[in-house]
Parts: sequence; C-alpha cells; structure tokens
Amino acid sequence: MDKIKFATIWLAGCSGCHMSFLDLDEFLIDLADLVDVVYSPVGCDLKDYPEGVDVCLVEGAVANEDNLELIYQVRRRTQTLIAFGDCAVTANVPAMRNMLREGAKPVLERGYLELADENPHLPHAPGIVPELLDRVLPVHEVVPIDIFMPGCPPSADRIRATLEPLLQGQQPAMVGRDMIKF
Ligand code: SF4
Repeated sequence: MDKIKFATIWLAGCSGCHMSFLDLDEFLIDLADLVDVVYSPVGCDLKDYPEGVDVCLVEGAVANEDNLELIYQVRRRTQTLIAFGDCAVTANVPAMRNMLREGAKPVLERGYLELADENPHLPHAPGIVPELLDRVLPVHEVVPIDIFMPGCPPSADRIRATLEPLLQGQQPAMVGRDMIKF
C-alpha cells in the first residue's frame, strides 16, 4: 500500500501546535510507518510545497502576504486540509491586532519605530519582509477547511484522535465546518 503523503505548515503562530505534535511520542513511530512526510517546517528541508499531498496540518492564522500565497498553494495541492489549533481555527492570538481600527500600521510603527533601539525605520523590502494584511484571518476565511482541530495547542491525544482514522481511510467523528468534539 502506498504511504500517505503527509505535510505540515505554519503560518502566523508560535509553533506550539507543532511542539504538541512532537508530544505524540511513540505514536510518531507508528506514524512513520504509514506516512511519507513530504513537507514540514519540522525536520524537512523546505522547498516548494509538493503536488498531490493527502493530509496537511495547518498551524497559525493568515497574517501576511506570504501566508496568503502559501495557503492558496497548499489548498490547491492537498486533499484533506486540517486547521490545526486555535490560531488556524479562529485566528486567536495573532488576531489581537484586529482590534486596532487602523489595520497593520500601528503594529508596524510600534515594532519598528517606537521600540527600535537604533536606526528606526519601517520595513520596505519587497520579497524579504512580507507585507502584513490589514486583518489577521482564520484559515477558513481564506480557503475551505476539511477538519477543524481546536486547542491552544491541541493536546497530543486530540491530534492522535484526529489523525488515526484518517490514516485508516476514515473520517474523524465530526468534519466540515463543525468542530471535532472530545
Ligand atoms: Fe501557538 Fe496556541 Fe496558536 Fe498553536 S494555537 S500556534 S499553541 S498560540
């Protein structure tokens, strides 16, 4: 049987969801028998996101132009897309700046001008520093999501309960726009 092509990505998040994934401990060994990890910021040499991915965990919200470009590509190339953790599901902590009416501008000014120790200047380096979006978005506001996995971060038990059925060709208990319930 062909192995499942498995990927993970992170957008705007803290990487805590990926750390929780590593808490799967010995299940990671079972997982390694069933999947080929074709793309991941953890332990993979990141090149282009490949075609024909079966399952991808998406950590983080959509906060900048790079996040936007990557998630469109990932959606086109992935069969089952999982919003992995609260930042992906609701935008969570990265979306705190959405309370500012002026969009990304005050965040940039605070970070790059007011708090700069030396040479304060706004980043203007297209292709190097991605432009912030005015609003931080949960992933489902940008592309369709197949499975929502809430938690900040989701526990290792929850990650396992989501992945195990998928790896056996089944769907977890609740899919689509409903939250998986535990
Ligand atoms: Fe970090 Fe929580 Fe966001 Fe995961 S959901 S990336 S642990 S802040």
